[in-house]
Amino acid sequence: MRRLPIFIVADVSESMAGEAIMQLQDGIELLVRTLRSDPYALETAYVSVIAFAGQAKTLSPLVELPSFFPPRLPVGSGTALGNVLEHLMHEIDTQIIRTTAEKKGDFKPLVFLMTDGRSTDDPSEAIKKWTRFYDTKVNLVVIGLGPYANLEQLVMISPHILRFEGSDEQSFKKFINWISSSVSAQSRSVSASETTGVSLAKPDDEILSKVDLNKNAVGQDEDFALLVGKCQKRKLPYLMRFEREKQHIQTSNFNLNIGKYHITSVIPLTKEFDELSAEGEYSQTINSDYLVGNPSCPHCGAMFALATCACGQIFCIQGEGVAHCPGCDRDINMGYSDESFDINRSRG
Ligand SMILES: [Zn+2]
Ligand SMILES: [Zn+2]
Repeated sequence: MRRLPIFIVADVSESMAGEAIMQLQDGIELLVRTLRSDPYALETAYVSVIAFAGQAKTLSPLVELPSFFPPRLPVGSGTALGNVLEHLMHEIDTQIIRTTAEKKGDFKPLVFLMTDGRSTDDPSEAIKKWTRFYDTKVNLVVIGLGPYANLEQLVMISPHILRFEGSDEQSFKKFINWISSSVSAQSRSVSASETTGVSLAKPDDEILSKVDLNKNAVGQDEDFALLVGKCQKRKLPYLMRFEREKQHIQTSNFNLNIGKYHITSVIPLTKEFDELSAEGEYSQTINSDYLVGNPSCPHCGAMFALATCACGQIFCIQGEGVAHCPGCDRDINMGYSDESFDINRSRG
């Protein structure tokens, strides 16, 4: 039996942390459950899940639907499209059975690449390699999740670029259903003929739209700030999300956004965060004057999750006094500062 390999490639950068990741995780479960009830898909589809942030990792190798177990999605820092394309090409080289003179190999793999942000590495080399060697061997569908997804670079590697614009659970379920209908359609069409194109289900206009590349993605930095800290006690990472209040001063001469960033959530992360993050990720900073709110640590409950060390590490403290920085591993004397200072900002 020839296999139809399906790769779900999911962005798990910090901007996805919390509800979006839970939705995606439930979505993959729903997808597989739905496909198992389709006899064509059940016979041909094999599914693999790859997660990427600053680094990419295969969470679930290519397996037949009955043996697939939905993986738990971790969170990492960054959105390295170059790294994930390299990883994907490696997976295709090693997992896909080629057609030879004696034997028919796998059907053309179908890849769903989902991202919600802008690439934090330079993917141009990987894109070049993809267009030269993989373009004709793989059906790649790119899905931008939400308004911040910057998809311009990806137009080079896929004719199928869509943006998911829903915001509630219901529309996300519809979106997952669209993926499963597309997989079903594809498994039917490959079983029926030797087609090498892709049969996508008709997208629901309400939730999925064709990307208009003349209309750029909304600048992410304007709307929210993400800070990553490390628990002093448990050495585990956490993510603080600050959202900008809408406050503009607009005259005929200038348009100034003066809104501060208010804390909206603090999310505990797992050890895998470091593994999936690229090194030297924090090139951007935000001034402490712009941040409002200091939540408690989601791991140990310490009073303030937003304390900073001179080394740049953000960590949790109980209050003033001596603390141990988990970044540079030194004891430091913590005190309140009236002066503003710059804080390392994560890029999502
Ligand atoms: Zn803590
Ligand atoms: Zn330090």
